[in-house]
Amino acid sequence: MAEKLRLKVVDEAFKRQPVEVTVPKERPSEYFAKYVFNKQKMYKYLPVDVYHKMCDVIDNGAPFDRTIADAVAEGIKTWAIENGVTHYTHWFQPLTEGTAEKHDGFVEHDQKGGMVEEFEGKLLVQQEPDASSFPSGGIRSTFEARGYSAWDPTSPVFIIGDTLMIPTIFISYTGEALDYKVPLKKALYAVDKAATAVSQYFYPEVKKVICNLGWEQEYFLVDEALYAARPDLVMTGRTLMGHDSAKNQQMDDHYFGSIPARVENFMRDIEIQALELGIPCKTRHNEVAPNQFELAPIFEETNLAVDHNMLMMSIMKRVARKHGFRCLLHEKPFKGINGSGKHNNWSLATDTGILLHAPGKTLLDNLRFVTFTVETLKAVLDHNGLLKASIMSATNAHRLGANEAPPAIISSFLGKTVTDLLEHLECADDNDLSMTGKTAFKLDIPAIPELLIDNTDRNRTSPFAFTGNRFEFRAVGSEANCASAMLTLNTAVAEALTTFKQRVDARVKEIAENIEFTEGGHNPVFHAIIDVVREDIKYIKPIIFNGNGYGDEWKAEAARRGLDCETSAPLVFDRYLDESSVKMFESQHVMTRFELKARNEIKWETYTKKIQIESRIFGDLCLNHIIPVVTRYQSMLIDNVHKVMEIFAGEKAQKISRENLVIIEKISDHESFIIENVEKMIAARKAANRIESEREKAIAYHDTVAPLLEEIRYHVDKLETIVDDEAWPLPKYRELLFIR
Ligand code: ADP
Ligand code: MG
Repeated sequence: MAEKLRLKVVDEAFKRQPVEVTVPKERPSEYFAKYVFNKQKMYKYLPVDVYHKMCDVIDNGAPFDRTIADAVAEGIKTWAIENGVTHYTHWFQPLTEGTAEKHDGFVEHDQKGGMVEEFEGKLLVQQEPDASSFPSGGIRSTFEARGYSAWDPTSPVFIIGDTLMIPTIFISYTGEALDYKVPLKKALYAVDKAATAVSQYFYPEVKKVICNLGWEQEYFLVDEALYAARPDLVMTGRTLMGHDSAKNQQMDDHYFGSIPARVENFMRDIEIQALELGIPCKTRHNEVAPNQFELAPIFEETNLAVDHNMLMMSIMKRVARKHGFRCLLHEKPFKGINGSGKHNNWSLATDTGILLHAPGKTLLDNLRFVTFTVETLKAVLDHNGLLKASIMSATNAHRLGANEAPPAIISSFLGKTVTDLLEHLECADDNDLSMTGKTAFKLDIPAIPELLIDNTDRNRTSPFAFTGNRFEFRAVGSEANCASAMLTLNTAVAEALTTFKQRVDARVKEIAENIEFTEGGHNPVFHAIIDVVREDIKYIKPIIFNGNGYGDEWKAEAARRGLDCETSAPLVFDRYLDESSVKMFESQHVMTRFELKARNEIKWETYTKKIQIESRIFGDLCLNHIIPVVTRYQSMLIDNVHKVMEIFAGEKAQKISRENLVIIEKISDHESFIIENVEKMIAARKAANRIESEREKAIAYHDTVAPLLEEIRYHVDKLETIVDDEAWPLPKYRELLFIR
């Protein structure tokens, strides 16, 4: 009987043994970046002048000089062939969820009847993958379906198996971005420019500001036999039905608990592979929910960190299978327990130090800290709706606001020390802060305790928390490409810093006209900075929230403060097309209105498709997995009642069968609800599919299809608790979550 399949796979999963991992003989520091063509390898494999030119490109953002392309390709080829590589591919990040690649061999005819390995500069630098099957939101009309991938020399090439992977950007024939990396790189350039200019107020020697990203990847592992018996997991990455397990995370015994052997081997394996690919893995631990784990590397420059996260996710999925697991990156694979996020730890740093680093000893350091903190918050306040849009998806929507992740309202937690500091600055006596007449400049910023980094309260409910020397953007989804959040945040900060500089410069002029400065007295610039910062401290108040983000009071309070409280994903996407957003992206040269519009089309379309797939597979499961099993079980009970009637007479029979009769009726009620509403859901889908506009269609799916998934599920889950365990066809939560 098909029903018994579940028990068979449960048995199989229970018996699975840990898979041994071959650990390299060298230490991690020795095999780190073994398969990456980093500077060390460049030094070895490239002519010296080419090596120096490459360093200039990587370190100083100098344009890549195509005349060296052949020499670089030759060096890469030699190194790759020494490592057994036979193929190469441009590796890019289209607007789907993953990465894309198309492999070509090095082999070519040598025109002498034999074959030869070839890899020329032009193959390294640019390719023309058939772009027509990647989403473009209408940017590429089919007659001009060409898209180009172009090498991004700031992200080193690497080797996976027999293939040389070349990180690239992906653009259309007409120059519009078709990926996440183009706007990300533009945003990083914008924030570099704006932040460098502001940094120079404090440290004139600063030449460059780098944006750092440290991501923390959460994920679930599920035994592959159990996974295969859950068509909903296979199709959608999440369970669309399943009753709570008696025990889930209420004992708090999983978090930081000892790591199960099978999982530990998996972790060891992915870490070795990641380290060999230059991903600086550092932290691994169990997460809050059963079978949930986390991995975090040391932070890196954002463009590289984004590539590394994409690479890590694909390594995790691949290696999981070797260990008899499936790795779930979906934000909410299981109802009723925590979902997975990907905290994005963000900071700006000059070549000499981190700009958000607090414990400055000098007035200058403190003022720098306050400036960058306040302007970051101004960016977050001005674009809080847009930032939410940058992390919103059909899948992440399940996690936000579910009392385990940040709510669907962007606010910032600062902790007591920094809040007090800002308050002090705002309220301080003007005489303390400003320059009256010819008295010397004085800035009474209280000392910031060194302990701040460990002290910043762990407010888990805040979507954007200050954690000592960085902000942690916690609302990012586990499955997401970090680039979406990072390009939005950095563009917003670039805009805030650009206007900050304009305001400060204007104020300097004003001050200089009115006050005479003595020789050796203080620079009017700091005076102006304080004036502008104080204005902004007042302005940013609505975004600061140090309380409990889960409470209903916060929702009401946030609405009063004018923060964006929308929760419907298709409507949240509208924020990309707000005039303030378009102005921000265009003025910082990150994306045009046209590109933003195209991207939104893709977002709505993707949203619709996800709900459509969920709804289809869910309907199928209800009608051909659940209902037949339930009906059989119900017939068994009915048979039993009949037999009881045959043996016993009247009232006695009634009495004996009472329980069964109640169950029979309950089953009927649930069954008819399910059947009726699956019909209704199909009708809702059909109606939605007829809508032309992608936006309206996505809204229809959100409003009319998605709620039915939840309503019907309730009844399926009830049936799971009633029907004979042996007959239930789908692995249960207690099996999916506790076998490892
Ligand atoms: P948590 O306690 O928040 O879970 P983790 O140790 O798991 O912290 O991860 C913190 C992440 O933040 C790591 O990737 C770490 O490298 C990164 N990080 C630390 N300092 C900075 C910084 N200044 N800028 C960006 N990321 C940082
Ligand atoms: Mg963290």
